[in-house]
Amino acid sequence: MPNMSPYKVKIPEQPPEIRNKNFLEVSLGYTCEMAKEEAQRCLQCKTKPCMAGCPVNVKIPDFILHIACGEFEKAYEIINETNRLPAICGRVCPQESQCEKFCVRGVKGEPVGIGRLERFAADWYMSNRSPKAENIHRTQTKVAVIGSGPAGLTCAGDLAGMGYDVTIFEAFHTPGGVLMYGIPEFRLPKDLVQKEIENLKQLGVKINTNMVIGKVFSLEELQQEGYQAIFIGSGAGLPNFMGIPGENLNGVYSSNEFLTRINLMKAYRFPQYDTPVRVGRNVAVIGGGNVAMDAARSAKRLGAEKVYIVYRRSEKELPARLEEVHHAREEGIIFKLLTNPTQILGTEDGWVQGMECVEMELGEPDKSGRRRPIEKKNSKHVLDVDIVIIAIGQSPNPLIKSTTQNLDTYDWGGIIAEEATGATSIPGIYAGGDAVTGAATVILAMGSGKNAAKAIDQYLKRQGYY
Ligand code: FAD
Ligand code: SF4
Ligand code: SF4
Repeated sequence: MPNMSPYKVKIPEQPPEIRNKNFLEVSLGYTCEMAKEEAQRCLQCKTKPCMAGCPVNVKIPDFILHIACGEFEKAYEIINETNRLPAICGRVCPQESQCEKFCVRGVKGEPVGIGRLERFAADWYMSNRSPKAENIHRTQTKVAVIGSGPAGLTCAGDLAGMGYDVTIFEAFHTPGGVLMYGIPEFRLPKDLVQKEIENLKQLGVKINTNMVIGKVFSLEELQQEGYQAIFIGSGAGLPNFMGIPGENLNGVYSSNEFLTRINLMKAYRFPQYDTPVRVGRNVAVIGGGNVAMDAARSAKRLGAEKVYIVYRRSEKELPARLEEVHHAREEGIIFKLLTNPTQILGTEDGWVQGMECVEMELGEPDKSGRRRPIEKKNSKHVLDVDIVIIAIGQSPNPLIKSTTQNLDTYDWGGIIAEEATGATSIPGIYAGGDAVTGAATVILAMGSGKNAAKAIDQYLKRQGYY
């Protein structure tokens, strides 16, 4: 008999007034009993509508059934057939707009907590089992992967699983991409990301860090080194700015710099780690996506008194995950919606001393389908802040494009690649993730890495390799 409660089993969390002072994970995860109870809410629909919402086709009802029966190892194995980073996806996938959006239990209540169950199975496996050595037939055919974010890791893992000799080249000193330098510890613990990466190394994936491709080697040089195919998963790490006066003042960060200092360089443990970060007294974060929420919640944890999210549209248009907005509010972040910055004000010696803003109202929908924000007359006001963090999006870094002949890109910098295969304008070179789509999601990056791995395998076989 299924559990017909209209609500998900509540997941234990650190209380807001405690967690907004530490970097430990907010959500504590299900116990075995809670997971079984939640798994029993699944109706095992024959048509499996939830699977249509998962870009990597996790066999959702199958793994949930095993959890309901207490067969946690089997549940993990089923997820792992199609998803090599389940502990990460279970935590950061926007499930409400993917798998859970299609769950029939969502019609008259809350959908099954698919993400929470996926996280449970992955965490249980990590705590109770060691990764199994897979018996893979190895070939001498070498494939290079540029970037170790979710796109690169997935592509590399799938190709290594097929037997190819795969090397990832990563610009930073630690692999993981945004999973390591962008998403904060309190949403995605970094030792867990490294454990998932360790599982890929067990499959044979080699990772060379501190290797900026385009500087150390060009793609052409990698080909000359014997790499028969290349996957570019270099992400979208170039921050966008607003172009308003005052952006060059001391105390203005891009969200990238602010979060990299905190996550990758562990500035929240300064002076134990040698990178500092200045948070000041009051902080304005410009933007309304996940990145803005992460920056605001991090600033609060680092001791800022007032932290504002400044967003020019309304609550309904906030692009961040609902859960992140909810958590940010609980933690005391102040939302200044329908507000647009026009100028960052500075002291004589060049430090931020307030931000001039105007109020907005929503007009007709624009090209993106969202209602266009229009400035309200006589609404100019100054927000009392001494730090400003700009989180209005990122674009792909032009380095690879500028050092590779004949690699076609869009005007905005994204690499042009076929959606189903990742094939670029150069035979044997594939691309995926944010480098192609612009800033998107972990699971879409993973899906593109997976598709490209299949296409690279077919390409290499056509070329007579393998
Ligand atoms: P990335 O993760 O950016 O990885 C690219 C890697 O390539 C990096 O490690 C980079 O150092 C490396 N690289 C770049 N250039 C070179 C070069 N020339 N040579 C060698 N290496 C290079 N998505 C979600 O689904 N849920 C969330 O909750 C979420 N929150 C986010 C929070 C933040 C703060 C940010 C910034 C993004 C968030 N995203 C979230 C988006 C998601 O993280 C990205 O869409 C995803 O990481 C893209 O994966 P990727 O592999 O394409 O690129
Ligand atoms: Fe849902 Fe993401 Fe898991 Fe797919 S990978 S089932 S979208 S949580
Ligand atoms: Fe279970 Fe929901 Fe998928 Fe149906 S749609 S199988 S209830 S998770």
